[in-house]
Amino acid sequence: MALVSMNKLMNHALNNNYAVGYFEAWNMESILAVVDAAEQTNSPVIIGFGGQFIGSKKRTIKENIYHYGYLGKAIAQQSKMPIALLLNESHEIDLLINGAKAGFNAIMYENHELTLQESIEINKYLVKTAHYIDVTVEAEIGKLPDADIATNTINGGQKTDIDEAVYFVDKTGIDALAVSVGNVHLMESGKAQLDFDLIRLLRKNIKVPLVLHGGTGISDEDLKEAVALGMCKVNVGTILKRAYISSIQQYLKQNDIENMDPHKIIGRGGESDMLCSARAAIAVEVTKFIKIIGCGNKAHLI
Ligand SMILES: [Zn+2]
Repeated sequence: MALVSMNKLMNHALNNNYAVGYFEAWNMESILAVVDAAEQTNSPVIIGFGGQFIGSKKRTIKENIYHYGYLGKAIAQQSKMPIALLLNESHEIDLLINGAKAGFNAIMYENHELTLQESIEINKYLVKTAHYIDVTVEAEIGKLPDADIATNTINGGQKTDIDEAVYFVDKTGIDALAVSVGNVHLMESGKAQLDFDLIRLLRKNIKVPLVLHGGTGISDEDLKEAVALGMCKVNVGTILKRAYISSIQQYLKQNDIENMDPHKIIGRGGESDMLCSARAAIAVEVTKFIKIIGCGNKAHLI
């Protein structure tokens, strides 16, 4: 099926009352694991990488966005599933533009330091540039709080204001709006309290697809309810990294690594391959979300 517009995937979901998942990867196994799960469930899917992570100034080795764009695009093109490729939440306009040139067919700018007017100007520019090359643009109004696992606290955040959101969508021409409706970034323990009345009002007033970030921190029932109310894209990241780390941790505990052939541990791809198990662990989590948000068995309809 190859690379398909994220706009097309979201609108199909919106018109058919399900949501398509964006499952954020960070390396080769993780992005392949998402496609494994999509293929096993005949599901459309959005793959991609986090711009804040790939473009972070704190990285000890600077990454080249073209590596990630070409890799993601090749993976999408080789799959039988309809797949969009998103460069999510970047503070850097340059990274997004280069990402689009490298093959990402969806981008999202994020910077909560800006005024509404500044945010409108930047997103207008991105929309104009991106639409010229058929790239979808997502943006956020309001701000999700962040969960901090070390202190077990939830910090910051501001719910989406409906009038501001309507004005922003109208002025920018963006394709999808991420909203802050009680969802929390990076949340693992405890579950976010979604504001369903706000979701209802947003769906009624906003003409573009709505996106729910922070999928890890939402209960299955609440996710289903949010999708039933019109959320047509759900972002999931944290739980995939947790599954990967836990799988490796368990492997290292259970095996006498120092007396094993390194090729058996990594690279050969057999049952004793640590990274194959970690990839499978990610796919299990992705499959669970696919079932909850209803995008399984929808690939052939697109
Ligand atoms: Zn997010």
